Amino acid sequence: MNLVLLGPPGAGKGTQAKLLEDGHGLTKLSTGDMLRAAVAAGTELGRKAGEIMERGELVPDELVIKLIAERMDEGAAGQGFILDGFPRTIAQAEALDRLLAERNKRVDRVIVMEVDDEALVERITGRFACANCGEGYHDIYKPTKVPGVCDRCGGTQFVRRKDDNEEVVRSRLKAYHAQTEPLIDYYTRQGKVRTVDGMADIATVQKDIDKALDGVCA
Ligand code: AMP
Repeated sequence: MNLVLLGPPGAGKGTQAKLLEDGHGLTKLSTGDMLRAAVAAGTELGRKAGEIMERGELVPDELVIKLIAERMDEGAAGQGFILDGFPRTIAQAEALDRLLAERNKRVDRVIVMEVDDEALVERITGRFACANCGEGYHDIYKPTKVPGVCDRCGGTQFVRRKDDNEEVVRSRLKAYHAQTEPLIDYYTRQGKVRTVDGMADIATVQKDIDKALDGVCA
């Protein structure tokens, strides 16, 4: 089963993708994570993408399509993919359809996570993650149980994304509405879209996504 998680920045795609990975044995492919890794490693791609990401704009289609194409065969023997943050433009969606068709696969379902823009700004500006294991937290909605200590691995160093500040979030939202939202129509025409209320708590959204996967072959 190959899934696309679609929704604005801060809708909880990364959190739900992780839960789907653990619960359904799917391989999570996140272009945001791949690009941040390229920036951290100082590769040529990282140098090209870094400034664009800091402005909250979209990295050119050909660069992210190449990234996904390179990773597509990883985990090919597994249960399928969850795409988090890709595709983000119609050109990317068309490229994804081609890449999957070449492998006799397809996008089986697209989960759209709906959240108000104002809630997103609050959600995003409060998020942080463990520097050691990557577990995600939020100042208000999901603090660590013991202040300053990661619940999962006991790590004590935390990081915040550079683009998680209000100004950049507003420009990421603008990019979402202008370039990514049209994908909802693209996939609706293919009969693949199910919508969940991304304003609900993490466990409720997880249950709603599981329901939205009913009838999709594993
Ligand atoms: P994310 O972690 O998905 O919020 O992505 C962080 C940033 O990486 C975005 O604001 C974009 O600058 C860039 N990015 C991630 N995925 C894509 C994509 N599919 N197309 C273009 N840019 C992307």
